[in-house]
Amino acid sequence: MDNFIVSARKYRPSTFGSVVGQHSLTTTLKNAIKSNHLAHAYLFCGPRGVGKTTCARIFAKTINCQNLTADYEACNQCESCVSFNEQRSYNIHELDAASNNSVDDIRNLIDQVRIPPQIGKYSVYIVDEVHMLSPGAFNAFLKTLEEPPAHAIFILATTEKHKIIPTILSRCQIYDFNRITVADTVKHLQMVAEKEGVTVDINGLNVIAQKSDGGMRDALSIFDQIVSFCGNNITYQGVIDNLNVLDYEFYFKIIEAFLAGDVSKSLLIFNEILNKGFDAHHFITGLSSHLRDLLVSKDPATVQLLEVGADIGDRYQKQAVLCTPDFLFQALKIANDCDLSYRISKNKRLLVELALIRLCQLHDEKKKHLLTDEAAPEIKKIAVEAPTPPQQQPAVAPAKPVAQVTQEPVNNVVAQPKPTMAATPVSNGKRPASISITKPQASTVSGDVTSNATSVQASRPAMNEDFNNIALENAWRNFASTINDDVKRVNFQTINLPVRISKNEIEVSVNNFMQENELKKIQTDIVQFIGIELRNTSIKLLIKVVEESDMQKKLSPEERYKQMAEENPLLEKLRKNLQMEID
Ligand SMILES: [Zn+2]
Repeated sequence: MDNFIVSARKYRPSTFGSVVGQHSLTTTLKNAIKSNHLAHAYLFCGPRGVGKTTCARIFAKTINCQNLTADYEACNQCESCVSFNEQRSYNIHELDAASNNSVDDIRNLIDQVRIPPQIGKYSVYIVDEVHMLSPGAFNAFLKTLEEPPAHAIFILATTEKHKIIPTILSRCQIYDFNRITVADTVKHLQMVAEKEGVTVDINGLNVIAQKSDGGMRDALSIFDQIVSFCGNNITYQGVIDNLNVLDYEFYFKIIEAFLAGDVSKSLLIFNEILNKGFDAHHFITGLSSHLRDLLVSKDPATVQLLEVGADIGDRYQKQAVLCTPDFLFQALKIANDCDLSYRISKNKRLLVELALIRLCQLHDEKKKHLLTDEAAPEIKKIAVEAPTPPQQQPAVAPAKPVAQVTQEPVNNVVAQPKPTMAATPVSNGKRPASISITKPQASTVSGDVTSNATSVQASRPAMNEDFNNIALENAWRNFASTINDDVKRVNFQTINLPVRISKNEIEVSVNNFMQENELKKIQTDIVQFIGIELRNTSIKLLIKVVEESDMQKKLSPEERYKQMAEENPLLEKLRKNLQMEID
């Protein structure tokens, strides 16, 4: 490699036909040459590296070619073309306005413009980065631009069209260059690789194309960089290692965790990503793109918007099948909110982690909505008696939060406000339904223990010892410690402690349907465990859903966290263990 030429120069297109990704534009330019309708000034606008200067040079070469092909392309053989290709033509003058932006620079240019070309028909003046000209230079330029000599053609190029003053714009024919699509870039890179004798992994080229963001010059520079890193065999792994791009694999895995509602797994994947040295913001924007790609993969009409290789495209489509559109919309919103709050957040890691937890809960919530009643009542009370399956009855009216209508066995009717009640054995068969009004907070229970001996559980020895709230809370906490899953345990511990509301009834108030659902899943286990701890097998667990009061809703997340931490000191411990901070 004695005389290395960068690929961007080596494979610079030499004809309109070989320009990548600007087909309609090059066709228009060719038609102008064909019909001999040449303007005196052109403005080429578009992002960097998409071919503005290249097209300007090809245009200059083509209009000076002495032997145009049938397709109105430069012949690349005549004296003029050869001098252009060897960069010694006197018919082309390039000025970089970024470094030559003064009035004097423009005056020099104007002086040159007056001199007609010795060979060829046209002198072409390419002014690059024209938006960098000073206002004085712009004004000095106006007159020449309006009435240039017949032999002069100006091609102004800019990445920032909005910075060009209207008086210049109105004097130019404007051409807007597109970003080059990933597919076009990949195709071109494949061609270059083939000519260079480099074997390539198409997924690797896709990553290069995406990274170059529509600019061919950048794509080829990255290609060169990777060839010098990987040698003549470009692999996907080599590309992502070299470009510090996060592997698709992480995103596929983390979506799986979301769908499984696996908070721990998603947090661990995120941790792994951070340990690999990736920025959390980079991850969250990548996650948004991944969700967007899943969304477009769902519909055959939009699948063409997916800019990845075929086999990764298949994986997107397979994963998209597992996600409902609703999940994707909500997940995108969460990811986007996280992205927006990222810059102003003081604890960026926790911000992302909270977003991940919410994403894991999305799918759970979906399932739960299917399970629970559509007309979610404000307050619900579920009377359960172990081990009979939970019975659930929506409240008749969401009246006062204390008074609830509930379905209870007749013989368990609580006669309010009498402090004692006749707690008779419960028959486990069909129960005649009746409506009773209970006041959970107000109802106190006397120590009147009588005939609860006949328990529901035939298989188990019936126990019917009296217990107080302290013993109950201890039993509840003991139950919490039997939960193996850390996240589930912490979730359980965030639930309010139970209160004994009648002789054998305990009640737990939960704030939302999610907690209710979690609790219902383990209800039987709880009742059995507590029953043994308290030596009372007749205990019934009631779950009351009380929507968060308005006051609670007004609390800031930090205040809510503090409130939760006060109730559950373990939450604070978990936070410290995970080294999270309150934002
Ligand atoms: Zn020629």
